[in-house]
Amino acid sequence: MMRSESRNVQNAQFCTERPTVYTLIGRDGKPYESATPGTLGGHRKDRIYGTLDCPGAARAIARGGYVTQRVFFADEDTAVAAGYRPCAVCLRDEYDEWKRLHGKGER
Ligand SMILES: [Zn+2]
Repeated sequence: MMRSESRNVQNAQFCTERPTVYTLIGRDGKPYESATPGTLGGHRKDRIYGTLDCPGAARAIARGGYVTQRVFFADEDTAVAAGYRPCAVCLRDEYDEWKRLHGKGER
């Protein structure tokens, strides 16, 4: 019956029947309304962005603790400008790059 609930939550923004306004996060970190869905997902509290089908995010969504913190971005540039960092699970290369630039192993 409701066996694939987590899948439905994740794909919700793609299977609406009527035109929807999507709330995306802008470069200033503030939400704005867009007619097109975002290409990247993110976690508001953790300040992480990743792919829409990120296995890490899917697991968190399945646990039920993620949905209220879920945000979306139009593109990677916007996510970075808003102060988010790449997800270590689905954006491994970007994450390594980010770590090199920001982490440096100090702290
Ligand atoms: Zn991810």
